[in-house]
Amino acid sequence: MEQADSFRHKGLRKKLIDSIRSKGIINEDVLEAMGRVPRHLFMDSSFVNFSYTDKAFPIAAGQTISQPYTVAFQTDLLEVKKHLKVLEVGTGSGYQTAVLLELGARVYTIERQRQLFLDAQKTLGPLNYKPIYFYGDGYEGLSAYQPFDRILITAAAPEIPQLLLNQLAVGGILVVPEGDKFGQKMIRMVRETEDHFQRSEHGHFSFVPLLRGKNQ
Ligand code: SAH
Repeated sequence: MEQADSFRHKGLRKKLIDSIRSKGIINEDVLEAMGRVPRHLFMDSSFVNFSYTDKAFPIAAGQTISQPYTVAFQTDLLEVKKHLKVLEVGTGSGYQTAVLLELGARVYTIERQRQLFLDAQKTLGPLNYKPIYFYGDGYEGLSAYQPFDRILITAAAPEIPQLLLNQLAVGGILVVPEGDKFGQKMIRMVRETEDHFQRSEHGHFSFVPLLRGKNQ
């Protein structure tokens, strides 16, 4: 059997991290966390050889594993710290989940595609990553587990889901790409008080859409 994480993979990964740094990500905690996650084990077999290029790739159910630069960018904006309770909407491949766990967060992750919900567990389990998995509609959040210190949405929302804002702790941060297939902006919402959110915009991105309901 091929070694799960070989010297070759580690070398390629280091180069990838250097290239993300050169694109302007200066948060070394995030870069180090990404340096520890074997991205090739999260990829569809047809694309494994491209795991350490800075690109998004198709995964099952017509979805994508986000571009590494985008993962770094969102994670940086989220200001993840050890022990924080993080809700991730859109488990997908589980790659972003692993990065959040490497930063010491307690991760609740929700996915609406049943196949991805199952596949992510098969990938993350053997690597000893232990988020709490949910199969459902992330638009609803997880009211039974609120409030969350951080909420990360990894699919594009036409507007920021109010239910998710409600589930953010005071002092908490939510990061979401807002828009549709014609254009999306990265938005950060900081809940400064119970009733007041500070909104900021952080450039243009391209994500698959946040969809309602769950899919068999
Ligand atoms: N972080 C993932 C990104 C996957 S793409 C990765 O890097 O692999 C976005 C994911 O969001 C897809 O898997 C999609 O099925 C999921 N998604 C879209 N709408 C959703 C919703 N309402 N609730 C939960 N997951 C959703």
